[in-house]
Amino acid sequence: MTAIKGGETLMGIAGAHGVAVARAVVFSASRAGFPLRRVKPEQVVSEWKRFEDAVGEVQADLRRVLGELDEQTPEASILEAYVLMVGDETLAQRVHGNIHERRRCADWAVADATEALAARLGSVDDPYMRERSHDVEFVGERLLRALGNMPEPSGVPGLDLSLFPASEPVPSSQSESVIVVAHDLSPADTAAMIGSRVVGFITEVGSRTSHTAIMARALAIPAVLGVNGALAHIVSGDLVVVDGLRGRVIVDPTAEQLEEADRRVARYQALALELGQSRDRAAITKDDVAISILANIELPDEADVAVAHGAEGVGLYRTEFLYVNRLEPPSEEEQLAVFRRVMDSMKGKQVTLRSFDIGGDKFATTFRLPRELNPMLGLRAVRLALVEREVFLTQLRAMLRASAFGDVRIMIPLVSSVSELRRVRTLLDEARAQLLGEGHPFARSLSLGVMIEVPAAAIMAKTYAAEADFMSIGTNDLVQYALAVDRTNRALAHLASPYDPAILHLIDGVIRAGRDAGCPVSICGEMASEIYGAALLLGLGLRELSMESVAIPEVKEAIRRVRVSELEQLAAEALTLATATEVEQLLESALESRFHDLLTGQPDSLPERSRSSSA
Ligand code: PEP
Ligand code: MG
Repeated sequence: MTAIKGGETLMGIAGAHGVAVARAVVFSASRAGFPLRRVKPEQVVSEWKRFEDAVGEVQADLRRVLGELDEQTPEASILEAYVLMVGDETLAQRVHGNIHERRRCADWAVADATEALAARLGSVDDPYMRERSHDVEFVGERLLRALGNMPEPSGVPGLDLSLFPASEPVPSSQSESVIVVAHDLSPADTAAMIGSRVVGFITEVGSRTSHTAIMARALAIPAVLGVNGALAHIVSGDLVVVDGLRGRVIVDPTAEQLEEADRRVARYQALALELGQSRDRAAITKDDVAISILANIELPDEADVAVAHGAEGVGLYRTEFLYVNRLEPPSEEEQLAVFRRVMDSMKGKQVTLRSFDIGGDKFATTFRLPRELNPMLGLRAVRLALVEREVFLTQLRAMLRASAFGDVRIMIPLVSSVSELRRVRTLLDEARAQLLGEGHPFARSLSLGVMIEVPAAAIMAKTYAAEADFMSIGTNDLVQYALAVDRTNRALAHLASPYDPAILHLIDGVIRAGRDAGCPVSICGEMASEIYGAALLLGLGLRELSMESVAIPEVKEAIRRVRVSELEQLAAEALTLATATEVEQLLESALESRFHDLLTGQPDSLPERSRSSSA
């Protein structure tokens, strides 16, 4: 391990705003999150018992699901194979050796054993055997979850800080909180941290638009992503500062650095308070143009957070989070109940339900997706939905039924051919006919829109504008696919800019196509939650922006400080530029002085500006 203790700094990408100071809990680099912990000789017996109990629990769980299935189905034979695999003698021997000889905790022992077995299977020539390596991984994840790891809605299990004796006393204000350090965290891992003691994240991979970062921001947990070598430099128990504003991590801060971090925490909280007080004021520019500000949410509970941040509706509900970490997809009734909960929280305001976007960087055990060489170009989103027809139909039925209770729209992700929109419409008609036959009420007219997030769709915007009820631009994926930059790749993050003129021209074309055809256009990509991005989008002609809730107060405030007329000029000029840097420089020179406090997270001149903007 490289020693960099004593206040040294690691740089990464500012993933979610805020500053946090707490002890680190370091998770292994494998897919499932679990603490790497050596056990004392006297703990070996209890660790082995934990493993045996986990095996029993997983087998019982699988058998319970099996009991509900028709024995003849392929799913039943897969589950039977899993029951055998969980109890496999070779696996048990490896785990035994890991615990008894290498003194590893049961979680580490299981992860190591299943990874080794999966790697062995993965390297054989026989494609059938190779495919089994995914089953071993699946079994490993189930065992890890039974051992108390992997996300559960109740928080982050297995985090027992007494396991990580600190070398120095923990400052009293940080004694209860932890900062999670991991190679990677899935969006589901992140979601599981709601209401837990986790006050910050540090990951080695990921970028601002990766789904983990999106989740962190939704949870208002400061995060620094893409920190090279974080696992090599930080050990569980280290005191760390996560500065999600500057993309900086300080390991083992000096007293001075700690004081400075505390000051930054206080300043950030003061700004958040200022903004919070004006969040319910409408977003109206200085030249009186009203802008609709909606929220992107991932989990039903976030609807309350969205309202608390001043959202005027939900422009994107990522329903895929209903499907993660479970063997069976959610039922129609379960989904309907969740949708209604979100609608109740939004009190009659519009809610845009996006059909599940699974695949890419969002893996769901529910579908046991085969490993793909290029998952971002693979069986993802609407493509998967059209393959998993029954699962999709169930979701569409639930969405339709939700429409009986309020203002609901349906949105399809990752459309790359208009034929997909047509196929979804046909399926939606089928769902309507079924519900009608069964006597379930639903709204007679329900908007079906598409996300414009694949360059092909942006280029064909005219066709979509004629056939879809609305279009919502997804810049996170549009940037990824148009600029050929993996959105999770930290090393390429500098290339993935929504300010790239190529992206601006695509957005411009979509807005024009929508305007010409009378088809409403909005945006739900992260670009809208950056104040420069929001300003540029208004200049390009958008009047509806959907963003992560935490960004709403500052974007509203930024909008109140500008005129659409000046933004239109800026946008026209941006379209003539050649690079993202040139566009950013243009925005900076025109707007930095007015946005300074919002950009730095320091409330230096905010009260004055608020007064002048409301005058
Ligand atoms: C996008 O791609 O911009 C988007 C909003 O969808 P997601 O981030 O869920 O892929
Ligand atoms: Mg997307």
